[in-house]
Amino acid sequence: MAAKKKKPIGKLVDQVATRLQLLVRLKASDDCGYANCVTCDKFLHYKELQGGHFIPRGTSFTKLMEENIHPQCFGCNGFGMKYGDAEKHYTFYMVDMYGRDFVENLLAEKKAKRPHKWVRGDLDTLLVDINAQIKEHQQMNIKKSDILLICATPPACSAVIIGMWYGFGVWLANFFMCSWGGICT
Ligand SMILES: [Zn+2]
Repeated sequence: MAAKKKKPIGKLVDQVATRLQLLVRLKASDDCGYANCVTCDKFLHYKELQGGHFIPRGTSFTKLMEENIHPQCFGCNGFGMKYGDAEKHYTFYMVDMYGRDFVENLLAEKKAKRPHKWVRGDLDTLLVDINAQIKEHQQMNIKKSDILLICATPPACSAVIIGMWYGFGVWLANFFMCSWGGICT
C-alpha cells in the first residue's frame, strides 16, 4: 500500500496558523465566550471575531507567534489594518502588552523579510499542542454554559442581574412598608 502523501509544508503552516488564531480568540474570551477587538474595543462573541496578526501573516517569522495574534473584529482585521487606523491602535496595544523593545524587534523582522525554515516535526508537535488547548477551552466553555444557562449573550446576563436586583428591591420595599407602615401587599 502506498504511503499517505504528506501535506505540503506551506499548507501545514497555514493549518497551524488558523488553529492558533482560534485558540487566541478562545483564550481571550470571557465566561460567555465574548472578547474585545483589540483595536476598536468592540465586544463580540469569539465566533464573530478573527485572530488578527499584528505583523501580517505573510511574514513567516511571526506567523505562528502567539504574541503576534489577538482578537480583532472583521472590519479592523481587514479594511482597518490596510486603510484605517487599526494598525496604529494595534501598535499601541502591543507596546502596552509587551513593551517597546519587543514590538521594535517584530517590526525589524517584518522589514528584514527573512524566510523562516519550518521543520515538519515541530509543526506537527505544535498542532497537537494547539488542538489540545482548543479542546480544553471549548470543554470549559460548555461546562460554563451548563452552569450559566442564562449566559447566551451579555444583554441576557445583564437583564437577569437587573431583574434580580429589581425583585430584591420590591421585596425590601414591601418588607419595610409592611413591618413599619402596616401596608402589606
Ligand atoms: Zn475592531
